[in-house]
Amino acid sequence: MKAPFMGTAVEPAQCPDCHSPLPVDYAERRRAALPMGAKGLLAGGIAVSIFLVPAFLYLVGHLVSSLTDGIGLQKKERGLIFGLAYLLSLPFALFPGWLALRLTLTWPRNLPVKCIHCGWSGTCKVKQVKGSDSKMGRGGLQG
Ligand SMILES: [Zn+2]
Repeated sequence: MKAPFMGTAVEPAQCPDCHSPLPVDYAERRRAALPMGAKGLLAGGIAVSIFLVPAFLYLVGHLVSSLTDGIGLQKKERGLIFGLAYLLSLPFALFPGWLALRLTLTWPRNLPVKCIHCGWSGTCKVKQVKGSDSKMGRGGLQG
């Protein structure tokens, strides 16, 4: 089974003034920059994860300590329970950063474009699309 091809689409694909196709090749699409909102989301998601990893260390330690208090477990056993519980909690701590990264990778990026025919210049949106690299307005946003 073939993995779906991930391409990009540029919007608008044609010059708004003279309606000729805008020459935006692959190398230029790679230059497209993330908008500020996406950068903020990414930074926020990573910051939340960076905060949650040690916070979960403390919370899980506290929880395991209070739950296993007075039931006669040895230090080694409590340590093992703590280790397993902390490992199980890590995906939840890393989830905000992963989600932010995933959202920003599919976020439409801004690309300044200049029309070679009439001199129009403006900003195009470069979007991730499933399927074709050239079709415009089909397939929609990858999500
Ligand atoms: Zn033009």
